[in-house]
Amino acid sequence: MAEKTIREPARELPVAGDYDLCVLGGSCTGVFAAIRAARLGLSVALVERMGSFGGVATLSLVNIWHSDLDEAFEKRIFAGLSLEMVERLRRRDAVQDSLRSGAARWIFNSAEMQIELDEVVTEAGIDPWLHTAFCAPWVEDGRLAAVIVENKSGRCALRARFFIDATGDGDLCHRLGLAGRVAAHFQPGTACALVSGWESVGQAPWREIVARQADAHRMPKGFIWSAPVPGTDLRMLAGTRVGEDCSDARGLTRAEIEGRRQIRAIQDILREHVPGSRVGLAGLPARIGIRETRHIDCLHRLSGEEVLHGKRFDDAIANGSYRVDIHHRDKPGITFRYLDGRETYTRHDQPPVEGRWRAAQAVDPTYYQIPYRCLIPQGPYGNLLAAGRFIDADEQAHAAIRVMVNMNQTGEAAGVAAALALRGGVAAAAVDPRQLRATLREGGSVIL
Ligand SMILES: Cc1cc2nc3c(=O)[nH]c(=O)nc-3n(C[C@H](O)[C@H](O)[C@H](O)COP(=O)(O)OP(=O)(O)OC[C@H]3O[C@@H](n4cnc5c(N)ncnc54)[C@H](O)[C@@H]3O)c2cc1C
Repeated sequence: MAEKTIREPARELPVAGDYDLCVLGGSCTGVFAAIRAARLGLSVALVERMGSFGGVATLSLVNIWHSDLDEAFEKRIFAGLSLEMVERLRRRDAVQDSLRSGAARWIFNSAEMQIELDEVVTEAGIDPWLHTAFCAPWVEDGRLAAVIVENKSGRCALRARFFIDATGDGDLCHRLGLAGRVAAHFQPGTACALVSGWESVGQAPWREIVARQADAHRMPKGFIWSAPVPGTDLRMLAGTRVGEDCSDARGLTRAEIEGRRQIRAIQDILREHVPGSRVGLAGLPARIGIRETRHIDCLHRLSGEEVLHGKRFDDAIANGSYRVDIHHRDKPGITFRYLDGRETYTRHDQPPVEGRWRAAQAVDPTYYQIPYRCLIPQGPYGNLLAAGRFIDADEQAHAAIRVMVNMNQTGEAAGVAAALALRGGVAAAAVDPRQLRATLREGGSVIL
């Protein structure tokens, strides 16, 4: 009978670098963490397993950032590196603005964003490691001392005094054995595509057509939307729905294959059922877009109640106004919940259902906050922070905070907190939130 395990022999590994900070995961979350830390004088390594930075914004083609204004479109709630990036993209004609839109404040060109991220990483003097996957933590005398990574050159270790896990799935925290969970109703993934010939769809009710034909093509009745790609004739199309656990190797593999199958199915439906349609497949994502996998237990779990009631926190490091946005895995369509109490359930094959999740009240909150404590993993490692979609939030809170402009702020906060922890010789949990908020503000963040 075949043995169920094999024992990998112990071996000496070269230490390929020694840094103040090592950031794992190179989406804007990780890049912005690295930049904020580098601007405060830290030597920083940035490790990304794919060939470019940007995460979902580039590799998965998702090209919309949400509003920097509160839900009333009156007060600015964030700035920082998100706005710096928008200004850089604007110089390339690679971004479209829409000031008073809760759906899409900025639509950008993901390819231009990829190159822009290379430039900001280089300008900040960060040591980039592309095509380099985090494999395992290295703990010495109870302290996280290095990470083991694997790339074309083989395996090596990167030493650092502090670590930020920005891998989306919390790979470092998970492999350290820290407590966490995959949400019971985690949101499904979506493989997006770039299509040409979109003008040929014209005014046809294409969403309804795709929904009506879904069963015949073994497609879940999800939610389908599209956006222009500034500077091109292409369109980004997001309409697939894949309910696999993408923090599991087999699940991720099935998700990639099923996502691409569904892209083809949508293309076939449009060609066959929209008269005159000549939609062509111009590009696939480097990785399926993943909305949710693990969450790590941190010093605070942000709740949907706290988000929807706009609770204020003394240690708030991020502000958001994007609605609770639930892509259902177990039924068609999506649910939106707004801070003003409205709720909408939308599916393309039926009229939307408008209602309220709470009664009307005299004054509504117009934005919510993310406290620093949601970034501090429980456990013995004081030189570790979480940033990005796996921070501690319940399913409803996650459904709002998961959007990129919010995750970008968690990255910036983690980078600044790492610098303050190292400067003060203290653990992440002992960083003074007043100092953290003041330093974030000095660096360009909006702190409310
Ligand atoms: C289809 C879809 C549509 C969405 N629409 C929007 C939208 O319109 N607007 C919006 O703002 N948000 C949207 N979101 C949500 C948003 O994109 C994500 O929640 C957000 O990007 C998560 O950011 P992150 O940095 O945590 O993770 P990611 O963007 O997934 O980045 C994680 C990075 O870590 C890297 N990585 C992972 N594991 C390792 C490892 N072991 N070693 C090294 N590197 C590793 C990955 O390659 C990746 O670059 C959407 C999400 C999806 C899936």
